[in-house]
Amino acid sequence: MASLACPCARGGNLWGEFWWVGREYKWVFFDDDNTSETYAEQVTHCPGCSRPLDRKTLKATTAFVR
Ligand SMILES: [Zn+2]
Repeated sequence: MASLACPCARGGNLWGEFWWVGREYKWVFFDDDNTSETYAEQVTHCPGCSRPLDRKTLKATTAFVR
C-alpha cells in the first residue's frame, strides 16, 4: 500500500495497492479523501482532473511525510 497524490493536487489523497489480477499484476487505486463522494471506493481516474490514474504519474506522499 502506498499513499499517493495526483500532480494536479485537486483530487485529494489516494492510496494504491499492487494486486494480482488473473495472471498479471496491476496497481489499483482508492480515494483516500474522506470529504469525497467516492471515499474508500476504487477509482480509475483522478477526482480532480479526470486524468487516468497511473502509478508513474502519481506522486508518493508517504515518502515525504514520514
Ligand atoms: Zn488530478
